[in-house]
Amino acid sequence: MVCTYCGGETRVSNSRHQIKSNRVWRRRQCLDCQAVFSTEEAVNYERAWVVHNAKALKPFSRDKLFLSLHNSCQHRKTALRDAQGLTDTIIKKLPAYIEAGTLTNTAISRVALVALNRFDAVASAHYQAVHA
Ligand SMILES: [Zn+2]
Repeated sequence: MVCTYCGGETRVSNSRHQIKSNRVWRRRQCLDCQAVFSTEEAVNYERAWVVHNAKALKPFSRDKLFLSLHNSCQHRKTALRDAQGLTDTIIKKLPAYIEAGTLTNTAISRVALVALNRFDAVASAHYQAVHA
């Protein structure tokens, strides 16, 4: 990757695998202007996974899953952090439900509900009311 400031060559000075969210974080330094910036590498779920619902095939949306979990956690002060953690947990479990290259909305809801049931009964009831 080239420098975001001057377009010069960069080197990676530090790198960390964030196991929980399956991301790789890298600190980069420009060899020309010495600027320092960081990058993150993550799976592009929109390209990797397809979701089948009653009407059509659509790319999987991590944002959509996150928003529905965030809505379900509105009664919690830590809703943002909770929804991020739940999204990571659920996404890790979803590959087991991919059949013939596609996921179904039903499978996503089922996995989400199992995670929410363990996490918070109110959030689970809220999610179920919207997605059942
Ligand atoms: Zn530079």
